[in-house]
Amino acid sequence: MQRLQDRVAVITGGASGIGLATARRFAEEGAKVVVVDLDETAGKAAAEEVGGDFHRADVADEDQVRELYAAVHAQHGRIDIAFNNAGISPPEDDSILTTGIEAWQRVQQINLTSVYLCCKYVLPYMRQAGKGSIINTASFVAVMGAATSQISYTASKGGVLAMSRELGVQFAREGIRVNALCPGPVNTPLLRELFAKDPERAARRLVHVPMGRFAEATEIAGAVAFLASDDSSFITASQFLVDGGIAGA
Ligand code: NAD
Repeated sequence: MQRLQDRVAVITGGASGIGLATARRFAEEGAKVVVVDLDETAGKAAAEEVGGDFHRADVADEDQVRELYAAVHAQHGRIDIAFNNAGISPPEDDSILTTGIEAWQRVQQINLTSVYLCCKYVLPYMRQAGKGSIINTASFVAVMGAATSQISYTASKGGVLAMSRELGVQFAREGIRVNALCPGPVNTPLLRELFAKDPERAARRLVHVPMGRFAEATEIAGAVAFLASDDSSFITASQFLVDGGIAGA
């Protein structure tokens, strides 16, 4: 019997990077995967590859998020795992001295409000079932701050971390676990896009990683599968660092 046999798992941002690697890993472990993304072409390809479904949704839009979970529940009759992972990188210049209010609000909307909405609309189904695992993607910067001056991104991920802890505590006695995943730098399109804008940033970032390299998305996916499975049954409200040692340095 596989660890995630027949569990229904919704993965936002499942078309790329960490989300895509996790969709593959969940499927390998027996889950029925629902890939959610704005990118229809890549999302459909991902869903087809893992034998799952694709839903196009903007996770920062309340109506679309409500409809997403209602549709998944109507189709499968259960939602066991919610990996709230979609997010965007910081704006090019994300220093507090220069970041404008519009750029700030866009990052909060996509990285933080989306997680609030996804939790809000999946929790009723998990409460009905009396079980569930929610994993929200924060970042190591939520714990440590960033050496590369990215105020809107770091603040959004700090919000995800605090919200996950609060929800983990609130719903612990209902059998629902909520954890914040805090990856270090991961070799994905998001990171490559960031470093393409500012190549020196990669070197500055790497200095802080004791392992001396960036993670591959598959290494993050393994941690997500653990948090989604019963192997982590006593872990909730945690900040789960998968960071190559950054927080210990
Ligand atoms: P990625 O760009 O490869 O994938 C992100 C996916 O999210 C894309 O497919 C994109 O289309 C989707 N998306 C973006 N906005 C959306 C929206 N409003 N609605 C639906 N889908 C949307 O990025 P990634 O590196 O895999 O990042 C995944 C998560 O991990 C993000 O929350 C990111 O902040 C976080 N993270 C990444 C790193 C890293 O170094 N790559 C480190 C720490 C945390």
